[in-house]
Amino acid sequence: LEKAYSFMIRIRVTGGVATPHQWIETDRLATQFANGTIKLTTRQAFQFHGIIKSNLKRTMREINEAAMGTIAACGDVNRNVMCNPNPYLSSVHAEAMRAAQAISDHLTPATRAYHEIWLDGEKVESSEEEQEPIYGKTYLPRKFKINIAVPPNNDVDLFANCLSFIAIVEDGKVVGYNVAVGGGMGSTHGDEKTYPRIADVIGFCTPEQIVDVSEKVVLVQRDFGCRTDRKHARFKYTVDDHGPDWILAKINEYLGYDLEPAREYEFTDNGDRFGWVEDDAGNYHYTLFVEGGRVLDTETYPMRTGLREIAKIHDGDFRLTGNQNLIIANVSAKKRAEIEALLEKYGMEKSHEKSALRLSSIACVALPTCALAMAEAERFLPEVVTELEEELEKVGLRHDAITIRMTGCPNGCGRPFISEIGMVGRGPNRYNLYLGGGHAGDRLSKLYRQDVDAADIRSTLAPIFQHYAKERNEGEHFGDFVIRAGYVAATVQGGDFHKN
Ligand code: SF4
Repeated sequence: LEKAYSFMIRIRVTGGVATPHQWIETDRLATQFANGTIKLTTRQAFQFHGIIKSNLKRTMREINEAAMGTIAACGDVNRNVMCNPNPYLSSVHAEAMRAAQAISDHLTPATRAYHEIWLDGEKVESSEEEQEPIYGKTYLPRKFKINIAVPPNNDVDLFANCLSFIAIVEDGKVVGYNVAVGGGMGSTHGDEKTYPRIADVIGFCTPEQIVDVSEKVVLVQRDFGCRTDRKHARFKYTVDDHGPDWILAKINEYLGYDLEPAREYEFTDNGDRFGWVEDDAGNYHYTLFVEGGRVLDTETYPMRTGLREIAKIHDGDFRLTGNQNLIIANVSAKKRAEIEALLEKYGMEKSHEKSALRLSSIACVALPTCALAMAEAERFLPEVVTELEEELEKVGLRHDAITIRMTGCPNGCGRPFISEIGMVGRGPNRYNLYLGGGHAGDRLSKLYRQDVDAADIRSTLAPIFQHYAKERNEGEHFGDFVIRAGYVAATVQGGDFHKN
């Protein structure tokens, strides 16, 4: 007899765009092989939990039959390339999406081993170089993350990635991309040599250069990243060890030409826009709030069934946002009424009539399915938000968006170190509380209280909310206020994350 092993499967969804057929298949596989739920991740991917070992291969095969895949969703290679799902500027988004797809295709591992193992593909003899022209024999020192954002929305949390591109738009066209390097969230409690870091903007490239630039940055990390200590192996440490100027010079050397100086840009926030919007091509998009990114049916809220019914008639696509929400996108004018009726039938038409705090919340999976979790996150954050909503209501701040994120460990999959309130599990019912992240995801937070009991989160934050309500400046965000009021010092870059 073997132990009852169960697995998580992550489906790579470049730019978070899935067809209705892919949605229906994902939904079917969740019922047939997983725990009956679909997790929308913070990197615009699907996750299944609870796949038993004997079903693993069949599930992988059926995922691939639905024109999706899991290759490079994990491992020391480039992962799911994220892209701003902005439904307002459809032509700009389409260009950014094409770039994300091209980068993803170019950096997908060339090995046939995946197909041989999971899809019973034919065994093909080839040299190591033929197998992996970019990653080589030893792949990368650690995972590598790339994304593309279209200002003013930073809804992919651009600065938390190894390599990021900021679309520069002129006259409704993408004229190029600023290049940012060295972001990342993961750290280890009690080890100050590890820290989150936000990316440095180092230059600008044209749309034609974006794939080449991506490849050369990956090669710099392949050749100069740390291979002796996995905790120091992410690209953010390579950038810090050598300095951004050295990294830029090395990228230019590998490219054989120089990146241009970075251009002006501005991000205003990193949240989603909920409800219906019409784009410049006359299509409609509905952003649905999905708490914790968990798509499931409950007795009072049959969201998964409702989305399945919508997928059956939808003629556009679905877009997973980096905030774990879902856009029913590219709805034609003639389909909108039908989809609205289904949203209403299944109770989804008011999904966004929640407090601004709840709409700005993110939780990683954590317990019971993540083996690294030290504390609850997805199952507990909704309760914490309910308590904090009451405190915010008392001081008239129900409609003020404050980004709040909880993770079960400092790996930081929910990007807690870049939010205005971050809670990171230290042990059962205990959290480190971080404050002061930038509202647009452009500044790291700082440790405010260590080892806070779960029951004390409310009483720890309530006086700060009262203070904020009374003394904030016009338009001042919570993350900026806690720094000005002296609750925490600003974190300028990863190296000072641990300094008070
Ligand atoms: Fe698991 Fe930690 Fe990632 Fe949460 S942050 S999903 S607990 S590894």
